[in-house]
Amino acid sequence: MNEQHAIARFEQFTVPAPVRTVVEALVQAGHQAFLVGGCVRDVLRGQPPKDFDVATSARPEQVQRLFRRVIPTGIEHGTVTVVQDKAHVEVTTFRAEAEYLDGRRPSKVEFHTDIEADLSRRDFTINAMAFDLVAKKLVDPFGGAADLSARLVRCVRSALERFLEDGLRPMRAVRFATVLGFEIEPGTEAAIGQTLHVFRKVATERVNQEFTKMLLSPRVATGLELSRRTGLLAEFLPEAVAADFAAVARAREDLTLRLSVLLAGANGAYELVHRLKFPNKVATDVAHLVAHQALPEPAASDVALRRWLSKVRLEAAEPVLELARALGRADPTLEGRLRAQIAARPPLTTKALALNGAQVMEALGVGPSPLVGQATAFLLERVLEEPSLNTPEALRRLLEGVPRPG
Ligand code: ATP
Ligand code: MG
Repeated sequence: MNEQHAIARFEQFTVPAPVRTVVEALVQAGHQAFLVGGCVRDVLRGQPPKDFDVATSARPEQVQRLFRRVIPTGIEHGTVTVVQDKAHVEVTTFRAEAEYLDGRRPSKVEFHTDIEADLSRRDFTINAMAFDLVAKKLVDPFGGAADLSARLVRCVRSALERFLEDGLRPMRAVRFATVLGFEIEPGTEAAIGQTLHVFRKVATERVNQEFTKMLLSPRVATGLELSRRTGLLAEFLPEAVAADFAAVARAREDLTLRLSVLLAGANGAYELVHRLKFPNKVATDVAHLVAHQALPEPAASDVALRRWLSKVRLEAAEPVLELARALGRADPTLEGRLRAQIAARPPLTTKALALNGAQVMEALGVGPSPLVGQATAFLLERVLEEPSLNTPEALRRLLEGVPRPG
């Protein structure tokens, strides 16, 4: 990939008009302004970028003065959001992070007037390129374009130093390699193992972001393998080191489902997912799927299938089947029989019973008491055995056999 190629790529892609307007306004006002980071990488790869980030020599206050609507999104880090023609454009002042004291966040941010200083604090060569839309020039001081062509994730300058500065970067290296289908350059990969003590200190929320992107990638198996090989997985999720990564990749690109496959063999799925700072709903759902991963025996009776569905709950039945399929435990006949049961919409919960709690009390001639719960459970059990019993009359008749108190 040479300069000419890069320019041609940028001509193929229509940079959104608001982004172009912002860049041109900055340049017109005498500042430097470039597209930077992920968008340059993606355009050079021939992929439409998710968003376009602008880097500028203008100070945040200068940017604020130049545009009518500016949101000070991360002003202390030099980032503001310009609202231009209803679009949001992130504009960040060139900066270099001076000194990372704890491997977690820079101790202070220094603004700069030259783009190379800004690019030099970025993590990987493929993320450390800038494009000058006005002059149509690529700024690529660290060989990012060459690494893109070679499909390599390589740290800017010394991998060891980059990783010691910010412990999240090893995880990002693995995430980019996974999502892009690249290799990690050997020197960069070797540095991961030497900096795990810094990775350990990184806030779980940041790890979660990278892990989520990895999990949702079609190449998740490679990503997990790379995480294991580099020692990262043993740091943040040792419970998954022995998991079947190919099975994770077989599951649909859904966070809950893929976490369930990954943790199918682990104990305490809820705590693990919770510890990794996924939303509570994800932890609850994963725990439910993992707990109910065992399918009924292929020779199970229809009654057993309904009991199973009642326990698993209808809304989780399909995900449990997907989990089983990913784990290679699929049985088409059993799946067909379960689907037939689901389609017949049998009553599977006490709420689906033809008598509600009040009606059960009335039939029993009692007020609220533990007896009501027992009677309801008994009715559900009978109805699971024989769904046609789910009528008010039939259920009342069944209740006549229940012993009353007194
Ligand atoms: P994606 O398309 O996945 O969002 P991206 O390249 O935009 O990829 P971001 O995490 O959004 O990735 O970060 C934007 C840019 O900021 C990166 O391209 C990189 O130049 C820089 N960057 C982000 N995080 C770090 C970090 N921890 N250390 C150094 N540079 C970073
Ligand atoms: Mg981004």
